[in-house]
Amino acid sequence: MTLDSDTFGLGQEREWRERAACREEDPDILFNPDRVDEAKALCAGCEVRAECLHEAGPGDEGVRGGMTQEERLADAARPRGCVLGSEAIKFAD
Ligand code: SF4
Repeated sequence: MTLDSDTFGLGQEREWRERAACREEDPDILFNPDRVDEAKALCAGCEVRAECLHEAGPGDEGVRGGMTQEERLADAARPRGCVLGSEAIKFAD
């Protein structure tokens, strides 16, 4: 079994998926908690990591774009904004 456009449940082809480093890999790498380091190493060398991470929803399981589901959930919950002088400015997502 290899990863294809339906592996992520979208049911439609996306150009960047054709360049995914995981495309010809065993999907177990991305979904097996015991293989997280292996998945992250794979993602680290993937040329479409940014696109993958952008499309990964917080509810999506497994490693996407080099981040586990837990890491993506924590990142999504992180306040967005910046600090100018002593004023913290928050932006709406
Ligand atoms: S970043 Fe990782 S999960 Fe995403 S397409 Fe590349 S290898 Fe696959």
